[in-house]
Amino acid sequence: MARRKKIYEGKAKILYEGPEPGTIVQYFKDDATAFNAEKHDVLDGKGVLNNRLSEFFMLGLNQIGVPTHFLKRLNMREQLVRSCEIVPLEVIVRNYAAGSMAKRLGLEEGQALPRPMVEFSYKDDALGDPLVPEEYIISFGWASQQDLDDIVALALRVNDFMSGVMYGAGIKLIDFKIEFGRVYEGEFMRLIVADEISPDSCRLWDIETGAKLDKDVFRRDLGSLTDAYTEVARRLGVLPANTGAPKPTLIN
Ligand code: 5GP
Repeated sequence: MARRKKIYEGKAKILYEGPEPGTIVQYFKDDATAFNAEKHDVLDGKGVLNNRLSEFFMLGLNQIGVPTHFLKRLNMREQLVRSCEIVPLEVIVRNYAAGSMAKRLGLEEGQALPRPMVEFSYKDDALGDPLVPEEYIISFGWASQQDLDDIVALALRVNDFMSGVMYGAGIKLIDFKIEFGRVYEGEFMRLIVADEISPDSCRLWDIETGAKLDKDVFRRDLGSLTDAYTEVARRLGVLPANTGAPKPTLIN
């Protein structure tokens, strides 16, 4: 049996060379990491949930005309995506103060922001993904002004879509991180949503109770992360067939 070529292994995913040129197989691992991998655990079933949830969000975005890298889901843990040149930025959209913004500005978590705000971090694990202003991004050549204008417009469309979908499931979208990639079509370059969209990269609070349904459950030791993600998947109607089913009981 031929071995697949591994292109990259990150904290939560592995990328393999795809079956056709211009494609990549994205494998979702069960690993959970936080605080730049200082905290690490393996959580049974997390990769399956994130594969399904990312498929659900990316498909929805494709349908409303926001281009993404998603092509099709291959199996419980893998999806086929378009290969692209990743823009080295984490694009963060915030609707309510939380996390690093609340800390930096001394705001109460959950405080509504005057409008959705977009900010950028430079993707560099060794530096802890530092927050960067547009001037750095343009001056260092990580993206052009035109790219940034397109990225902000697309990020706000993703925010509207995700906020609405979550609202319908009784969940408040506090903030999220997405990444963009460049694809080349003849003489033209286009930006597409890449990487993943899952509860690993969003803050999701139950509208009624305020309960956290995202990676903060793991970051802050608030209970079972897979139970929280299963609840999100259940509410969105995307529960995979073999998750959430009762576990077999050992009979002595
Ligand atoms: P904060 O800057 O408050 O830590 O994070 C803002 C949002 O972006 C949160 O929803 C958080 O989950 C997401 N985020 C920020 N950095 C990363 C990252 O390196 N990986 C992932 N998966 N999500 C991130």
